[in-house]
Amino acid sequence: MATAEERLMEWLRDAHAMEEQAETMLGSLAQRIKNYPEVKAQVQRHLEETRRQAETLRECIERRGGDTSSVKDLTGKLVAMGQGLSGLVVGDEIVKGTMACYTFEHMEIASYSVLIAAADAVGDFETRAACERSLREEEAMADWLKQHLATVTGSYLGREEAPGVVAKH
Ligand code: MG
Ligand code: FE
Repeated sequence: MATAEERLMEWLRDAHAMEEQAETMLGSLAQRIKNYPEVKAQVQRHLEETRRQAETLRECIERRGGDTSSVKDLTGKLVAMGQGLSGLVVGDEIVKGTMACYTFEHMEIASYSVLIAAADAVGDFETRAACERSLREEEAMADWLKQHLATVTGSYLGREEAPGVVAKH
């Protein structure tokens, strides 16, 4: 049986690994997008937020007396998912990439919601506040993606039918 403090530490480390995975995914997506400037700019904005979120989680872990030295080992847990999201070399890459980001944001929303409840359970208000800030960023990114899935799809389909135009990214 683990204490609530131990679980919180474990979940903070999982979340840190998740943000590192997000950084990899968003970085490779931003780099690959050539013809969808709005999506590229938004992914780059969220990449910067993601780096700050990872740093914030590291600060929470260290403030609670943990360290991030073993964090890298946990990253493996998410590698399988990350492979599905970052190695998108399919023809409809921009559509699949946008969908994958939308899915990933919701996993992050779930993760921060759990962290907020766990921080409450142990009375760690700094961790709670930090996770609430990140949660709002994830929700904003999920909303943006939700609002743009249709236009990205329309634009992709239009480009695909136009001769001599690159549609996939
Ligand atoms: Mg994030
Ligand atoms: Fe995110």
